[in-house]
Amino acid sequence: MSTSTETTGNGTRSAVITGASSGIGAATARQLAAAGYRVVLGARRVDRLTALAEETGGVAVPLDVTDPESVESFVREVPECNVLINNAGGAKGLATVANADEDDWRWMWETNVLGTLRLTKALLPKLVESGDGHVVTITSVAALEAYDNGSGYTSAKHAQAALHRTLRGEHLGEPVRFTELAPGMVETEFSEVRFKGDTEKASKVYQGLTPLSADDVADVITFAVTRPSHVNLDQIVLKPRDQHSATRAHRS
Ligand code: NAP
Repeated sequence: MSTSTETTGNGTRSAVITGASSGIGAATARQLAAAGYRVVLGARRVDRLTALAEETGGVAVPLDVTDPESVESFVREVPECNVLINNAGGAKGLATVANADEDDWRWMWETNVLGTLRLTKALLPKLVESGDGHVVTITSVAALEAYDNGSGYTSAKHAQAALHRTLRGEHLGEPVRFTELAPGMVETEFSEVRFKGDTEKASKVYQGLTPLSADDVADVITFAVTRPSHVNLDQIVLKPRDQHSATRAHRS
């Protein structure tokens, strides 16, 4: 199989993964490290990152994507970058627009939208300079559909996706690829965060069906990233077999 992971004259390819302390980010770090990438891991829970850095031979760097100063000091630790995985994100709460909680909205927009903007802006010059860059942004089926009680998250994911898709045109002709990955249900800490630590409520989300695992998503990310550099997977929608849409699933 032809891949783009071979080292060039400049050494091993490096991949920055935001939100690497858990779920999809941590699984992606493991799989990209196994595929030969030097992984740079960013998140707020540094203890988890440090353990994962030891396991993968990568580097753990504290990162809060909602804080411009934290992003600046993170980027200072990234001399070269071939791949950026914009993964840090999530949802807070489920409420109608009429009952919207502004703090939850702020959290979702700051993390998913402005976080993606900050990291992408900061690392694009290095990605282009690498001669073979790749930005993978983890959006969601919530970036494709609007559903009741989900407007804070669906609006943030739509905005994050619009930002990402715009880059494809703005950088056409430059040596950088853009892939949007929109997953459906993945069993991670996502629902625990959405329901603010209510694990019982969180586990009900996945009852009666087999959701995707973080590794299922990481497999697809790794596939996209390791295609030859002229091959751009623009948009990938990935759902469990039992999930039809954001709001319709078969449960036994
Ligand atoms: P997760 O297990 O909760 O992981 C979220 C990651 O984001 C954690 O590593 C967390 O790290 C990081 N993060 C949150 N706020 C951050 C901040 N301010 N700065 C830096 N890192 C931050 O959930 P996941 O399912 O793997 O989510 C990964 C991505 O997939 C998210 O963008 C999510 O919206 C998307 N997604 C998930 C699903 C799903 O069903 N699970 C479906 C579609 C899309 P720290 O808390 O340590 O900072």
